[in-house]
Amino acid sequence: MNNSIMSKAAIATGDGAFIISDIQVGAPGADEVLVKMKAAGLCHTDYDSLTWGKPIVMGHEGAGEVVACGEGVTGLKKGDPVLLNWATPCMHCFQCQEGNQHICENNSPVTAGGNGYTPGHATLSSTTWKGQAIERSFNIGTLSEYTLVKSSACVKMDKSIPFTSASILSCGVMTGYGSVVNSARFQAGSSAVVLGTGGVGLNVIQACKIAGASHIVAVDINPQRLQMAREFGATDTIQASKEDQGLTQVAKEVKQLFGGRGADYAFECTAIPALGAAPLAMIRNAGTAVQVSGIEEEITIDMRLFEWDKIYINPLYGKCRPAIDFPKLFSLYTKGDLMLDEMITNTYPLSALDQAMADMIEGKNAKGVVTFE
Ligand SMILES: [Zn+2]
Ligand SMILES: [Zn+2]
Repeated sequence: MNNSIMSKAAIATGDGAFIISDIQVGAPGADEVLVKMKAAGLCHTDYDSLTWGKPIVMGHEGAGEVVACGEGVTGLKKGDPVLLNWATPCMHCFQCQEGNQHICENNSPVTAGGNGYTPGHATLSSTTWKGQAIERSFNIGTLSEYTLVKSSACVKMDKSIPFTSASILSCGVMTGYGSVVNSARFQAGSSAVVLGTGGVGLNVIQACKIAGASHIVAVDINPQRLQMAREFGATDTIQASKEDQGLTQVAKEVKQLFGGRGADYAFECTAIPALGAAPLAMIRNAGTAVQVSGIEEEITIDMRLFEWDKIYINPLYGKCRPAIDFPKLFSLYTKGDLMLDEMITNTYPLSALDQAMADMIEGKNAKGVVTFE
């Protein structure tokens, strides 16, 4: 391959393991941008990617610096700091025109490509491992020193924003914030219950605060997590017991807190399938339950939980519209309203990815970030 560069990258081998290995990244083609990664956030999807059954360059969130732009790229130049994002809209399909850029019918690796390569992303054959083209996680593969992306995957950021802080925006922060503001259309002065206070839950909490919530009740079994929830804006906390399956006891406490009626909104951020219906038990009649964690398992739901007039939504990626939402998040961070640095528990070099993954699985980190130099 001409003009290709060598890049150290984390490669999921498809059988549950990963290795750090050299890949070749080609020069940018039309509408493509070569980015030198500076920081990449980690989430459980990276762990899941180990078992996708094929070699894949890992990582789906991160920030870096533009190294080169291909023909036809406008608005970006060498040296620009950019936030990378996997939900790239084509802007002309049915869903993009409906305003649902995050479920673009042409580009979304979730709705259009089954976690595989979708058109509208950088040329597949431009990234190779051992002489073979290799797919990248969500078509961006951020756990690599260099990555080649379409210009639509880049959102230019201000030089004053540290790469490490920005790197976590394009997954959990966007999901949490967008689920509250874009999907639930949270109304100022409303009350919220947040089930689960991991990375996404904390972002839901701070988004409710930014959106002007009157009360934010955080629920978790872990008291340290609840402490952190308070730092991110929870006004009340309830420590759930492991025995309280389905959180019926918690639901009673929540109802008491809100005049026997229940909260206006409840957000499920636990990723525990058995709790898929739990947010319905926390809300008042005609309240809104939001399943943020992406539960996909079959569960049994007592239909009376929907009584009466309750709304249940399951947004993907907080309805992300990259060009609109990321600049908003940058400015909320710059103003001091959006906490990012407080969320990053640890940073690791790429060579310590095994430690970073172990810490994530053990629940030691609100968020771990891999940094590159
Ligand atoms: Zn993620
Ligand atoms: Zn589209």
